[in-house]
Formats: sequence, C-alpha cells, structure tokens
Amino acid sequence: MSDQNPVFIPGPTNIPERLRRAIDVPTIDHRSEQFSAMFAPVLSGLKSVLKTGNGEIVLFPASGTGGWEAAITNTLSPGDTVLAARYGMFSHRWIDLCQRHGLNVEIIEEAWGNGAPADRFEEALTADAQHRIKAVLVCHNETATGVRSDIAAIRAALDAAGHPALLFVDGVSSIASMDFRMDEWGVDLAVTGSQKGFMLPAGAAIVGISPKALQAMDKARCPRCYFDFRDMLDANPRGGYPYTPPLNLIAGLNVALEMLLEEGLPNVFARHHRIAEGIRRAASAWGLTLCAASPRLYSETVSALCVPAGFDSGKVVTHAANKYGVAFGVGLGEVAGKVFRIGHLGSMTDVMALSGIATAEMVMADLDYPIALGSGVAAAQDYYRSSRNASKVGAPQAA
Ligand SMILES: *Cc1c(COP(=O)(O)O)cnc(C)c1O
Repeated sequence: MSDQNPVFIPGPTNIPERLRRAIDVPTIDHRSEQFSAMFAPVLSGLKSVLKTGNGEIVLFPASGTGGWEAAITNTLSPGDTVLAARYGMFSHRWIDLCQRHGLNVEIIEEAWGNGAPADRFEEALTADAQHRIKAVLVCHNETATGVRSDIAAIRAALDAAGHPALLFVDGVSSIASMDFRMDEWGVDLAVTGSQKGFMLPAGAAIVGISPKALQAMDKARCPRCYFDFRDMLDANPRGGYPYTPPLNLIAGLNVALEMLLEEGLPNVFARHHRIAEGIRRAASAWGLTLCAASPRLYSETVSALCVPAGFDSGKVVTHAANKYGVAFGVGLGEVAGKVFRIGHLGSMTDVMALSGIATAEMVMADLDYPIALGSGVAAAQDYYRSSRNASKVGAPQAA
C-alpha cells in the first residue's frame, strides 16, 4: 500500500487529485490556438485572485525567487536605493537578491516574529525628501516566522509621506490563501508562485505589474533578458509566449483557478483562517507559543511554534519524517532549532490538519516534551466541530 501522507510544510503544498490529473497533459503546440485558449483564462483568473483590474500579469517558468528577480530587474537600475524591512528568512533573501543586483538597500531591522513596521517605513520615507528611495519591499507573509504584515498600512505610510516610491510585495505564501488586494493597496509589483496557495508543483513564478511599474520599465537598467517583462507583454496579448511555456503548469493553473473561484475567494480565506485557528488552539493546549509576536500578526498559512528551552526543534522535524513519514518545516536562520513550522495552506481540510496535529503530538511525546497526548487534538477538534458550517458538509468530493 501507499505510505503517502499529507505534507505540512509551507510549500510546496499538497496537490489535490483534481490538479494531479489536470497537469497530466499530452504535448500540444504552444503556437496553436489550443494553447491560447488554455492560457487566456489563466491570465484573467490570476487578475481576479490578485484583485487587479488595471494591472498586467506575467508568468515565468521559475520558482518564486525568479519572480523577485523579475520584479527588481525590470523596474530598477544598479545603484538605486530601495527600502526593505528584515524580519525573517524570506525578507532577508529578497534583500540579498537586491544587493547582488547592485541595489543599495536601506534596511529596517525588526525582531523575527514582528512584521513590517509601517511607522518606521513612514519615518524613513518622510526623511527621504530627495526621493532617492525608488521602491519599498515588503514580504506580506513571512514564511519563516508565520507573520502576516499589513500591506494597507505600508501603503498608508507611503501616502502619508507623500512618497512616489513603487511598492513591491512578496505574496508567495499568501496569495490565493489570504486576502490580497493589489489595486486597493496600491501594490506595484506582486510576486507569487505556483507551489503554495495554487496547490501545484513549483515552476511558475507569477508577477502582477501595475501601470506605474510598467512606466518604470523603460528607465530600468538592471540587466535582464529571460525575465524581461517586455517580451512577455508583447507575446501574451497575441496568445503567445516568448519561449517554451511550462505547459502542464498552465494547464494546472487553469483548473486551480477554477477550483479557487468555485469555492469562492472569501470561502478560501475563511477556510484557511479556520484551519489555522485550530492549529493555534492545539499549540496553546500544548503550552507552546507562536513565533509571531501578537495575534494581529498571525499567519493563516503557516504557524511557527516555539519549542521549550532545552529542546531542539530540528529533532521534531527529523523524527516526524523518520518515524511517521510526515513533513513539517524546520526553523530557518535566526530561529533554527527554536521553532518548527506547520504549513497549513493550499489543499487542506480539517481532517488533514487534525492528522498533522496528532502527528506533532506523537513526535513531541516521543521526544519527552511536557505535553499530554490528545490535548492539542482535542482543542482543535472542539474548535473545528463548533466552527464548521454544516451546510458545507456534503458527499465526499471526487477532487
Ligand atoms: C516560498 C517563498 C518564496 C519563494 O521561494 P521559491 O522556492 O523560489 O519558490 C518567496 N517568498 C516567500 C515568503 C515564500 O514563502
């Protein structure tokens, strides 16, 4: 029999059966009308998920990191200053990428567990009377710490400072799982990928581009070729692609978008909230705190649980993998050894979440954590039973 379990890493996420079938496609000619017909609804569906009416969407064969690079190189020039906060591994890695492209990064250091500090952004932007800062970078959902930042507040900081900088947002582990409003929040570049909220394998980097970011493109001198927006924006409207597209991921995205829009985005977000809340109830029953410094910052897609002093969180992850065949996320960077992460985004149900909670509980009991078996599971069960909308329970879905 198969010993396959769901994964509880915050990406790549579980691929539902319907999407595994959707990406199993024979080769078609990407210069055919058949391809255009498959591709067009992907671009329009992505606009609905990013909530942009006037932005453009481009899709590169790359992981999310390629989306970061595309955002930077298409709109900036070496020597340009950008403003970014560092509060986890992913905000750190985006900063590193900017530095390697010769950008001057003005860094706001925040404790890991905090989010992007809108007040400190406003201060830095107000102080920049010459408007040297060309872009503000924010990681919406810091996957290393399970922290969600308030993008609307960052937009308000830019506006309060009367600053014209572009706003770039990493939404790789939030978009399609948590509310994201590209137009309303005045986001100029939004980056995501196929392997998290879209429930597909890695390989498609998705970038939303505002009209203002499009204007910045002509002056941008960062070297770019493969990731040049202009080639994409030239070919896409004709249904084409500047090189060979990742056909099976585009086929998959077509169906993933169908699934998300069938469920309805508000329901998708509510489901992520409920599942996350059950996991938080379990953590609290175990007496563990979250790395996220306050409930206002809690991520709905990943929870980083702090282990008690004297324990090594890395052992939770290796023991879970070796004994039970279940994957949790390790602590990264500054929180290595101190937190383990439960990813709960994408294709996830109450029942799947309960299996992850039960496994984490067995692992911690094996490792002599001071927790009672069943305590976290019971807390989550109580929450899931009482918060579940009975009208949503139907026959098991084929998907
Ligand atoms: C996963 C992730 C990325 C992108 O990583 P890739 O491995 O390149 O897809 C970027 N930012 C965040 C916040 C992420 O969670």
